[in-house]
Order: sequence, then structure tokens, then C-alpha cells
Amino acid sequence: MTRSVTVVGGGFGGLSTACYLADAGWDVTVVEKNRRLGGRASVLERDGFRFDMGPSWYLMPDVFERFFGYFGSEPTDYYDLTHLDPHYRVFFKGEGDGADRVDLDGDVERTKALFESYEDGAGEAFERYLATSEETYEVGMEHFVYTDRPNFRDYVDWDVIRNARGLGLLGTMDEHVADYFEHPRLRQLVQHTLVFLGGSPSNTPALYNLMSHVDFNLGVHYPDGGIAAVVNALVALGEDLGVTYRTGAPVAAIRGERGEMRAELANGEILRTDAVVSDADYAHTERELLDADDRQYDADYWESRTYAPSAYLLYLGVEGDLDPLAHHTLVLPDGWDEHFDAIFDDPAWPDDPAYYLCAPSETDDAVAPDGHSALFALVPIAPGLDDGDAIRAEYRDLLLDDVGTHTGLDLRERIVVEEDFCVSDFAARYNAAEGSALGFAHTLRQTGPLRPDHRSSALDGLYFTGGYTRPGIGVPMCLISGEHAANAVLEDFSRVDA
Ligand SMILES: Cc1cc2nc3c(=O)[nH]c(=O)nc-3n(C[C@H](O)[C@H](O)[C@H](O)COP(=O)(O)OP(=O)(O)OC[C@H]3O[C@@H](n4cnc5c(N)ncnc54)[C@H](O)[C@@H]3O)c2cc1C
Repeated sequence: MTRSVTVVGGGFGGLSTACYLADAGWDVTVVEKNRRLGGRASVLERDGFRFDMGPSWYLMPDVFERFFGYFGSEPTDYYDLTHLDPHYRVFFKGEGDGADRVDLDGDVERTKALFESYEDGAGEAFERYLATSEETYEVGMEHFVYTDRPNFRDYVDWDVIRNARGLGLLGTMDEHVADYFEHPRLRQLVQHTLVFLGGSPSNTPALYNLMSHVDFNLGVHYPDGGIAAVVNALVALGEDLGVTYRTGAPVAAIRGERGEMRAELANGEILRTDAVVSDADYAHTERELLDADDRQYDADYWESRTYAPSAYLLYLGVEGDLDPLAHHTLVLPDGWDEHFDAIFDDPAWPDDPAYYLCAPSETDDAVAPDGHSALFALVPIAPGLDDGDAIRAEYRDLLLDDVGTHTGLDLRERIVVEEDFCVSDFAARYNAAEGSALGFAHTLRQTGPLRPDHRSSALDGLYFTGGYTRPGIGVPMCLISGEHAANAVLEDFSRVDA
């Protein structure tokens, strides 16, 4: 008997779940609200310019290899990868001592020399830091990421405890990094990746020091065609496995019970399947698609969570080149605590922002017309902030001034295409709670078994995938969440079908 499943939402978690379940012989339909698949990894195309609207850093290539390897293929069957050199460039805004502009790449000796130039002994400290990070990555991936551990009792496993002991699981990144480096800029260089996890140095567990292994050792790559090429690859793989995709098809309600689930589309059509897996925002699914009796969490739960930042994004098609930017560039104020406060403690538009500039045309000629460049700026801001036209216009000016002052890149007279995207756009386009760009931040109480589960405990037959669940935020993590969610479905149904 062929089982069937409806996957609600075509983000990376949904596309991944669909591939695993189709491979297991299920009849799979993905229904996506928007015209495009890929979820937050959407694309903006205008007048010959092409922008990845969401993710732009291809990190953890090992996870993509493992994913495609499961289906007997490899990433390069679908897209070419360029190793970026440098991995990224950093401009420091302040008057602090040490170089104001640095390039980071995978060369440990060069990076040690760079760290030493800021602080005596920091070169050797960097080497130790990186070794810990690599060990954390290996243990973390094996025991906490690839292995799904939904319950605390799963951690009462000698092997896990023994391995977790050295990880400083309960400390914060701030505390961990302070053991290695004094210089604020060095601390920033090993902590900026926390933004990928939607957290700050003071609210992210030290476990995530593993991100330095990710960005220094595993490297930063660019898939030819951008992250959109990775979306296309998953869709093509799914098609080969028999997945059906329906776009422009918002789901309005999920009802039923295991074996007899119903996904009710906004146009009134009802899709009847054995199971439903939701990749739509967990909060949206629970609060807006389920009847009250079928919800696991009450309003207090959603209000008391720490949401990851939203973002102010400015997509620019520009005449001429983008010297002195690299493909990935970070611009950081010396004191960035105020920016984190403005996100997590006292929500406000940051006066002196830390931000990211993405210039894919540095690597890929196809993203901009001849003689032009594609650029987007991303400023992390508090979820739920008011983002009306007036503040957006004001912030655009602040940002363009800031880029000019601190990188030397004067854009104003050269912009030929311009579009912005902000809090209310995340909410409207993706049904994102609080307009968060990423969902739940990886704070200590929102990590591992404390993230919402893959199985609904209130509605048997409903499952969840994507960034809200385990293992968490980011494209690689969402690919893995697809595997975990599919395993949960297969496990439950194999008991019934046995
Ligand atoms: C600006 C930005 C930059 C980022 N940068 C990076 C990066 O560089 N590297 C990285 O690895 N990660 C990055 N991320 C994070 C990464 O993009 C996400 O963690 C990941 O793509 C989320 O995937 P998901 O499976 O949770 O689904 P989502 O992408 O959230 O997709 C969910 C889908 O469900 C659909 N949906 C919602 N409601 C309904 C409904 N009622 N009916 C039908 N469909 C519905 C939505 O339209 C959406 O398409 C970034 C994210 C953003 C926003």
C-alpha cells in the first residue's frame, strides 16, 4: 500500500523532507503559498540583475554532500562550487588599534599572524580555539545534529555526556571567547557567525563555537547560480523521485488524524493524505492552521520565546564595480553590544549598525548586466519592529552613508535598480512570526530538546520540519531537519503498517 503525505511549504526543510519520503516510496505533494519554491531562499530578478533574497553563504559543504550522497548523487551533479578567496572581508568602523580592514581565509598560519598582530599570544590562542571548535563540530554533528535527540533522557547516555563535558554546553559564547582573546576585534572575528544562528554572544551557548570550524576550516563556497541553484537542485532531485509540487497554493487549515489527514487550501480544495508535514513557520502552523484542540502550545509560549532577528535588506543594481568589497563583506562597529541590545533587549533601529554586504557579481558574471554589479546589504534588526516607508527611507540614507564612510564605496550616483525588504515583508511573504528572518534564536533554552519537536504531540499525523525544529536555523540544518522529520513519519507508520 502506498502511503501519501502533503508537505506544507517549499523551503529547504520541506524540499528535503519531500525527497526522503519520496525515496521511501511515499506519494509526496509539496504545496507552497508563493509562486517560487525555496522559501526564504527566494530570488529577485529585475532588469538583468539577479539577487538571492535570503541565504547567500554556502557553509558546511559536508552536509550537502551527505544529503545528495544519500540519493546516490553529489552536489556537483547539479551545480559547480567555487571556493571563495578570501572567505570574507571585514571592515572595522571604529578608531580601535589594529588593522581596519582584514581578509579571512582558510590559511591557519596567515590567520595566526593576523591575530598576533592585534594581541601578543593571540596567534597561538587562535590555533587552540580552532582546535576546540573542530572537536566541538565533530562531536556536535555526530551526537546532537545528525542524531535527533528529542528528549532530555536521550542525553543520559554515557557517550554523549562524556563528549559534551568538554563542550561547555551551559556557558555562553561571550564567556567561552573571553578565555582566549582580549582584543574586542578578535572576539568579533570569532563571534560574527552567531548572527547565522539568530543569536548574540551573550545568549548563544558556547557549543556554537563550532561555527569557527565551519567558516575557517570547511570554507565558504559559492554555488554557480547562487543559493537559487541549490533550491533548483533539490526540486530536480525531488522530481526524479516523483515529488509533485504545487505553487501559489496557500494552505488555510490542517485537520484530521494519522492516516486520514486533510490539508485544506485557501481556494477550498482539500488534499487528503496519510500524513502532513509542515515546513511553514511553526508558529503560523500552530496558531493559524490548526483548530484550538490540535495545538501543542498556548499564546504564552509563543510570546515568551526569543525570536531571531529580522532584517533590513537593500538590493541594489549598481553601475560599475564594487571595489573594495569582496564577495562577502562585514562592516562592524567596535562596540557592537549596542546593536545586539537594539535587537534583543530594547528593540529599536540601530544607530551604528553591524551589517553584511553581499556582492555576488565579484564571482558570478551572470547576476548583473555587463558593466554593472549586484549588491545587497543586510542589517539584522529586532523582530516585530515598525518598518514603515519613512523609517526605511531614513535608514537607507544612513546605510549608504555608512558604507561610503567605512568602506570607501560611494554608491549613491550609481544605483540603477533598488528594492528593499523588511520585517512586514517577511511576515506577509512567508507567514513569518514577528517578521523574524530565521525563527527561534539558538538560545540555551531553545537548543536541542528545547526546540519544538518534529512530531505534534496534539495532532497525531502532523509533523514539522524546517528552521524552528531540531537541529535549527540555516540551510544545512534545514536539510537535516528534513531527514529527521521523514524518519519520524516513517517510524510511526512502520509501526502501524507492520
Ligand atoms: C536574509 C536571510 C539570510 C540568510 N542567510 C543564510 C545564509 O547565508 N546561509 C544559511 O545557511 N542560511 C541563511 N539563512 C537562513 C535560511 O535561509 C533558513 O534557515 C532556511 O532557508 C529556512 O528554511 P525552512 O525549511 O525553515 O523554510 P522557509 O524558508 O521558512 O520556507 C517555508 C515556506 O513555507 C511557506 N508557507 C508559509 N505558510 C504557508 C501556508 N499557509 N501554506 C503553504 N505554504 C506556506 C512559505 O511561503 C515558505 O516558502 C538566511 C535567512 C534569511 C531570511
